[in-house]
Amino acid sequence: MTTPHPLSRRDFVRLMSAGAAVAAAGMPADASAEAPAARPGRPLGVALLGLGNYAETELAPSLQETRFCRLAGLVSGHPEKAARWARQYGVPAKNIYNYENFDRIARNPDIDIVYVVTPPALHREYVVRAAKAGKHVISEKPLATSVADCDAMIAACRDAGVRFSVGYRLFFDPYHAELRRLAKDGDYGPLNRMSGKFCFVAPGWIWRIDKRLAGGGPMMDLGIYLIQASCMAQNGATPVAVTARELPKKNPKLFTEVEETMWFGLEFAGGGRFEGLTSFNRGGNDYEAAGPGGWIKFQSAFSYRGIACETSDRGALRFPTPVHQQARQMDDFAQCVLTGRATPVPGEMGRRDIRIISAIYEAARTGQRVPL
Ligand code: NDP
Repeated sequence: MTTPHPLSRRDFVRLMSAGAAVAAAGMPADASAEAPAARPGRPLGVALLGLGNYAETELAPSLQETRFCRLAGLVSGHPEKAARWARQYGVPAKNIYNYENFDRIARNPDIDIVYVVTPPALHREYVVRAAKAGKHVISEKPLATSVADCDAMIAACRDAGVRFSVGYRLFFDPYHAELRRLAKDGDYGPLNRMSGKFCFVAPGWIWRIDKRLAGGGPMMDLGIYLIQASCMAQNGATPVAVTARELPKKNPKLFTEVEETMWFGLEFAGGGRFEGLTSFNRGGNDYEAAGPGGWIKFQSAFSYRGIACETSDRGALRFPTPVHQQARQMDDFAQCVLTGRATPVPGEMGRRDIRIISAIYEAARTGQRVPL
């Protein structure tokens, strides 16, 4: 989906110094769930922008495990927090920025990649600024709150000649890789019957229920994983139409701006159908895809750890799993930067999913089936 950008001179020099380890260069996109090959030489520097919960509990610890990139910079609106992180992770003071002086990162050779981890409505501004600063960019999901914002982000990265990826960590999980393999190899025939749920009970204070910052409710935050899995089960296809219905709110005082629970359906050209539910006011974290010859089922389907997966003919599957999916995700992107290989999770994939979600909101509002 992404046209590989030429390597910068600095990237090229690093690539040369990486020696034989860059044999991983030719790794096909779907081999990205494999552990990457070791690479001597200096890992790429990543600056985390937005030191919130996900950055703190998953991304920064993951960057202690990565082999091709390392935590080298911090961007935060809270100087005390940034200073604390800098002490903990050995980040030099010159590599700490705030949202006002962030553009100066352009002159910092320690930073190769900016990873944007703010609420979704802010992704556009920081992705565009990072690209203009000449840095490669990862943005967290959902990529943005509108297709127009996705387009602006993709264009900014293209114009700046930098690479752009979405934080779709599950693409690097071995169980989700097995779903893609089954779809590709057709062990059970086309996986045309799909269903699942991804829900949690949201606490009241979070930006996730603020439409201005989140763009929507659970559909944006959690439903996107069901869309991702279904497109994987359909060999990367995009749905041709969607249907949706917002369920009545049990807590209308909390969910004043966004949906509390959404049922939705996806239709694919090959006959695939998904039906499922996403909610901020109940539990549920499972996924299933079935073909004429068998099925694959996930429990804790979208979790960071502890995904349980079984198939109709092999029972419970056991793959070695990484401590952090995010370490593989970031190492894979670093290798893409170094080698010129296309990322399997480009900005265009993030745009695809925002386009689908926008159609789902339209379907819920109008009660009509919405073609894509
Ligand atoms: P948090 O609210 O915990 O953190 C967001 C951080 O963004 C804040 O701590 C702050 O960092 C920064 N920020 C900048 N401007 C604002 C603002 N106006 N309001 C709030 N925060 C602001 O959110 P999460 O870490 O849970 O989520 C961040 C992103 O990561 C979202 O896009 C989310 O969807 C995604 N995410 C992805 C997950 C995945 O599995 N891939 C899991 C969880 C989240 P500072 O104080 O340093 O300025």
